[in-house]
This record gives sequence, C-alpha cells and structure tokens, in this order.
Amino acid sequence: MIGALEAGGTKMICAVLQQDGTVADKLTLPTRTPAQTMPPMIEFFVKHKVEALGIGCFGPLDLDEASPTFGFITATPKLDWRFYDIVGEFKKALGVPVVMDTDVNCAALGEACFGSCKGLQDCVYITVGTGIGMGVLVNGKLVHGIQHPELGHIPVAPMAGDDYAGHCPYHGRCLEGMAAGPAMRERWGAPAQELNDRPEVWQLEAEYLAQGIMTCILAYAPRRIVLGGGVLHNPTLLPLVRSAVQRLLGGYVACPAVQKLEEYIVAPALGDAQALLGCMQLVRQ
Ligand code: ZN
Repeated sequence: MIGALEAGGTKMICAVLQQDGTVADKLTLPTRTPAQTMPPMIEFFVKHKVEALGIGCFGPLDLDEASPTFGFITATPKLDWRFYDIVGEFKKALGVPVVMDTDVNCAALGEACFGSCKGLQDCVYITVGTGIGMGVLVNGKLVHGIQHPELGHIPVAPMAGDDYAGHCPYHGRCLEGMAAGPAMRERWGAPAQELNDRPEVWQLEAEYLAQGIMTCILAYAPRRIVLGGGVLHNPTLLPLVRSAVQRLLGGYVACPAVQKLEEYIVAPALGDAQALLGCMQLVRQ
C-alpha cells in the first residue's frame, strides 16, 4: 500500500493506493493549522500501514536536498504552514520513506504516466483555479533547479482596453494576477462559474492563458499541454485558448504536433485523480 497526500490550501486529500493505482481508501479534510490537520492524516496513514508516502503540496516548497530546510513548505501566504517541515513530520510519525513535490508537478506526473500524456517524455500540465501553476516534464523528469518553476507568475502583456491592475501581491499583472479565479472574480465582480453567459469574459481569459501557453511552448517545446483546473469548467474556454495560441504563434513553430491544436492542447484525462496518481508515481521513482 502506498500513501498519497494531495495537500491543498483549502483541503487535504489523503488516499491509500494499491500498486495498480486503485484507491483503497480516501480521507478529505479541510486545511486548518498543522496542529489540527496533521494528527488525523497521520492516524489515517498509520491505520493503513502504508509502506511509503508521496506528497503533492501547495508551495512554495524547499526541494533542494542540500538545504537545511529540505522538505519544508516555505514562504506560503498560509501563515500557519510557513516554514513547516511537512516531510520531516510525516517521516517521524510514520517511519517510512516520504517524498514530496508540488501539487501541480504531481498532477503533471500523473497525467504523463497514466492520463492524456501517457507515453510522452515532454509535457506540461497547467492548472487554472485559485492560482495558476504549471508542472513541466522534460526527458521524463519534472523540472527542478534552484526551486520548482513558477510559470504562473510570468509577465503577460495587458490586452488593449484592459486597465485591471492585477491580483498578484508580488507582481500585479503576471499571468496568475490577470487570469486566475480570484482575478476573474475581482475584475468581473462575480466568480468564474457565474460568468458563463458572458462571452467577453472567456475571450479575454483565453488571450491571457494563450500568452502563458505560448511562453511555455517556446521555452520547453512540450509534446503536449494539458489544461485543467476549475476555471476550465467553462466549455468554451479550451477552444478559445487554442485559437488564440495559434494566432500568437503566427506559424513560427511549424511542427506537425502544433498544427493539430485539438490534440496538442487538451483537457485532463484523469478527472481529479491525477495528483494522487502522481504522488504514487513519485514514490515509485
Ligand atoms: Zn505573480
């Protein structure tokens, strides 16, 4: 049995998986303080006698093995979890190997191994929800360097007539600041799910996402891009994004893959299970 934890800013999803990825048991808890949230999660994994634990966690995280704070959640805006040694605490309590990567990296790994990018060594998973994250897989490996890439915060050019100041506390008008769920709510005065009948909302959203995706194509040359997250529940958005990407690329990337954008920029294939399966894959690796 392998333990998997999808650690999010609002909820924690704990699961126990069999070797084939079947979920044997699952526990979902609201994310409160470590003192409130860690004990029931530990109890769950102990009860199931997991042999190892994989964590896909909200960030930023210290994933540098040489660092004294390796395995810590670092400068998160969730103050209770700031500089919390989540890997160390689970190791101590469970006495089994514990591995961790970001939530979006685990989702990327899940889609790459079991979902819509199965068999591909180079792909990107993008989630657009309360934030924007991109998990990048190059040569079959998740990209890490000084830390994990933070492509949600790349700069985007404001669209003509859009004077919205942006929602990111660090950069204002970065991709996340212009196009994540909270930016949509602030800009349009209602949450994304209540804006489905306003085509201008989705056209603008597609333009910003396309800018981010174009950067990602030019920087990493992925073989496929998966676009997921709550904001993508609007059915018009994905086709709009594809057309905007095609226009922005201007024919410059002439590979056959990019000519068939409906097979190149795709929806996730694993519903909401990609991160848990990615956690399992992290353990296997
Ligand atoms: Zn930002």
